[in-house]
Amino acid sequence: MNTSDFKNSSQQIPNRLLLGPGPSNTPPRVLTAMNQPMLGYLDPVFLELMDETMELLRGVFGTENQLTFPVSATGSAGMEATLCNLIEPGDEIIVCVNGFFGARIADIVKRCRGKLHVVEGDWGNIIDPEDVENKLNAVNAKIVCIVHAETSTGVLQPLDDISAMAKRNDALLLVDCVTSLGGVPVNLDASGIDVAYSCTQKCLGGPPGLSPVSFSDRAVEIIHKRKTEIQSFYLDMRLLSNYWGKERVYHHTAPISMNYAINEALKLVEEEGLTQRYHRHQLHSQALAAGLESIGIERIAQEGHRAPMLTSVSIPDGVDDAGIRRRLLEEYNIEIGGGLGVFKGKAWRIGLMGESCRKESVIRLLSALEDLLPDVTQLAAVEAAEKVYAAE
Ligand SMILES: *Cc1c(COP(=O)(O)O)cnc(C)c1O
Repeated sequence: MNTSDFKNSSQQIPNRLLLGPGPSNTPPRVLTAMNQPMLGYLDPVFLELMDETMELLRGVFGTENQLTFPVSATGSAGMEATLCNLIEPGDEIIVCVNGFFGARIADIVKRCRGKLHVVEGDWGNIIDPEDVENKLNAVNAKIVCIVHAETSTGVLQPLDDISAMAKRNDALLLVDCVTSLGGVPVNLDASGIDVAYSCTQKCLGGPPGLSPVSFSDRAVEIIHKRKTEIQSFYLDMRLLSNYWGKERVYHHTAPISMNYAINEALKLVEEEGLTQRYHRHQLHSQALAAGLESIGIERIAQEGHRAPMLTSVSIPDGVDDAGIRRRLLEEYNIEIGGGLGVFKGKAWRIGLMGESCRKESVIRLLSALEDLLPDVTQLAAVEAAEKVYAAE
């Protein structure tokens, strides 16, 4: 490769419409923010930006939690950070598993040497609160872990009952908000969620690379009273809070440009307003669903518990899963997701997250599917979606 090839390489990246399970499209203002000059990780201007980011994050999370900041890595690091700081060997941990990401939590609990108790639910259905109650009665659980929006199935889990049960049993409630944050209300404090983590690249509208986390004072106290050392240096909240808190002690070099990005993304969220943003996710997912159903594509997730930002659908009989997704990508520049785990080859996962959640996305995808799928009347799906918009 000569220098001119190298120079051209980034200009050859196609401009995709990202309608998969994440990342979503990054708004131009966020990309511009990332292009700002580099700063040192203790530069007063950067420290100010960190404080502002923490405040903005508290707003989206709906919390007063002091310990609320972005961990320097993707959503899975937030998962690992929350778990490895709270779990000591032998601790009894309940994990709700009704999809791929619940199973990942269970995996990490074992790696942290926690004593794992799984509450299982069918893929595509919510976790039954009664099953959680039974498990809480059977074991002396320190934490109940659950996924809010299970991206592998498109299920949005109701949390109120489970939160009340955890409180009654003196267990912490730890919630995966990776896909939900910024797309549906999360409200940590009002919902009694003690610990939560998320990511930048789904409904917050940033590029992948940071994982906002939040710990209640009660959770922080538990971390400080640990008898054993936190196994991870990089994710040690006591050390990290010395950098994000008043002390400003070096721990690792903050990914500066990523922090510019999350700061700008959160400002966009604030400018739009949370209520408006949640409404936008609801509206476009309804229009998408109406369009898909009009051409015989059915949703999988349990009715009444569908996550607006991630629509999982059954692939119609006789349709070539990989072939259609490849043509969508190559001919229409549209990415959608395939099935994960038990849904592999059986489901498509269509994301309408953050910047990607727009009418233009819905219409472009539906008309592409009208072109690509056999026996579909042109404009049938687009017109069904337009009806939803017209009723707005
Ligand atoms: C995407 C996702 C994760 C993992 O986040 P990464 O940023 O890919 O590490 C965890 N949980 C849920 C529910 C997700 O959708």
